[in-house]
Amino acid sequence: MSMLLSVRGLHAGYGPVEVLHGVDLEVHEGQVAVILGANGAGKTTTMRAVSGMIARRGEIEFDGTNITKSPPEAIVRLGIAQVPQGRGTFTDITVEDNMRAGAYVRHDHHAVATDIALWYETFPRLSDRRSQKAGTLSGGEQQMLAIARALMSRPRLLLCDEPSLGLAPIITKELFQIIKRLNEQQGLTVLLVEQNANLALEIAHHVCLLETGQIVASGSPEVIADDDAVRRAYLGT
Ligand code: ATP
Repeated sequence: MSMLLSVRGLHAGYGPVEVLHGVDLEVHEGQVAVILGANGAGKTTTMRAVSGMIARRGEIEFDGTNITKSPPEAIVRLGIAQVPQGRGTFTDITVEDNMRAGAYVRHDHHAVATDIALWYETFPRLSDRRSQKAGTLSGGEQQMLAIARALMSRPRLLLCDEPSLGLAPIITKELFQIIKRLNEQQGLTVLLVEQNANLALEIAHHVCLLETGQIVASGSPEVIADDDAVRRAYLGT
């Protein structure tokens, strides 16, 4: 399986404060990779660095192209879409306009309409609410919209930052099932940040453990789940 994203020696932070101290990670095409880590470990910062939203140094390669210095829009055009933590939908416009906004880098307007129809099939709750303002959706529906909007750019890699945040367990489960289906049926590659380790390990092909800005362990979900320290810290067993 070919490597889609390769991150080597990534350093990033905010102003003078360095948060990532040389992160290495790889995401293979067609897989779901998960970054597990406690609050403040640097998970969101890693996502922001990959999507070009903050200053970074090291080496980030996407499908053989070095994107370390690329601006966010160029990174979206290359095929990386981010679902930010806290959803980040445009609350004052409708569900459908949010979907259209996700296609801003595309010029194939006819295919955009086809894609919107396609994603309504995957997210029927959004279809029912297509004319509703995004800000009036429930938390789970907003998260679904954030994912659907990101998919509208036709990404090859979806960065998903803690989709379970603030959601009821049953909604979280539904969301993870959708992510799993997108991966299995459409071959979408996913890099997922999660604190809900049990759920994340269920859909992951590969897991990295991030602690204070460094990857301290990585491997298959079986290997990671077998690690005593991981079990104590993340699985509560
Ligand atoms: P959580 O699970 O709580 O979201 P995280 O692993 O995603 O945590 P980050 O959001 O990457 O962690 O934050 C890592 C560190 O960077 C924290 O100490 C945080 O306070 C700091 N940080 C995050 N965003 C900013 C910012 N915009 N300005 C300054 N410091 C920030």
